[in-house]
Amino acid sequence: MSDTVIELKDVHVRYKARTSTMFHRRYFDALDGVSLQVARGRTLGIVGESGSGKSTTAKVLVGLEKPTSGHVEFAGQTVTSFNRSVRRRLGRILSVVFQDPATALNARMTVHDTLLDPMQVHRIGTRVSRAKRIRELVGLVGLPASALDALPGQLSGGQRQRVAIARALALDPQVIIADEPTSALDVSVRAQILNLLTDLKSELGLGMVFISHDIQTVRYLSDEIAVMNKGRIVEFGDAAQVFDAPTDPYTRSLLGAAPSLLA
Ligand code: ADP
Repeated sequence: MSDTVIELKDVHVRYKARTSTMFHRRYFDALDGVSLQVARGRTLGIVGESGSGKSTTAKVLVGLEKPTSGHVEFAGQTVTSFNRSVRRRLGRILSVVFQDPATALNARMTVHDTLLDPMQVHRIGTRVSRAKRIRELVGLVGLPASALDALPGQLSGGQRQRVAIARALALDPQVIIADEPTSALDVSVRAQILNLLTDLKSELGLGMVFISHDIQTVRYLSDEIAVMNKGRIVEFGDAAQVFDAPTDPYTRSLLGAAPSLLA
């Protein structure tokens, strides 16, 4: 696919199991041969129960976790080392929105400084262009300019997640990885954040990886869905197809539908 930004090919991640001892090493395959593609302008939903390997997949995508075997291809080239310069390059193209904005944001940094920070770290823009970008960013995520002087503690959970999304957009990435971005929020604001992500995706032509344990939420904004179970992708396809005609028993159980005895 020509629009592919990043691709995982048969990625395995093996952790030393917590029950490992000096004499009996035990391992645990958090990812057991995961292959997927993330493309510009498309949303890939990753769904699965807790412990199925979703966050490990996200960590591999952003260069925070190194595959034990398999490949990560970035802009068509195999990433052979995850050194600082590679992570920096990845950081400009992909950014992450985490589950809980209360812990993802620095409590002592104003919204203004939170949005300025990635541009300073990556040495992007001038004082004037950065100030302009910061104003654009708050507008994009539907916050008033007056929010710029606020500290995270002065904002609601939904507003904090908007700030985290604005920060993720600061460097104009090609892809956003959203790891359970609504799970820590009040039910009443979840739909607003999902709508915001949907709008941003079409306005900015963003690629997105949307991770959730909730298949209904994933369906809402995904073009394709990958269902994960025990470190493997057990089902992959067009969102409507996975939802309406799941072939894997695990997907059916996630959908809450009992498998038909006649099928
Ligand atoms: P998910 O995001 O779907 O809940 P994770 O990718 O976080 O799943 O975790 C997959 C599995 O890997 C889990 O069983 C988890 O306990 C295990 N795991 C994650 N990180 C580590 C680690 N650093 N060391 C050992 N096991 C880990």
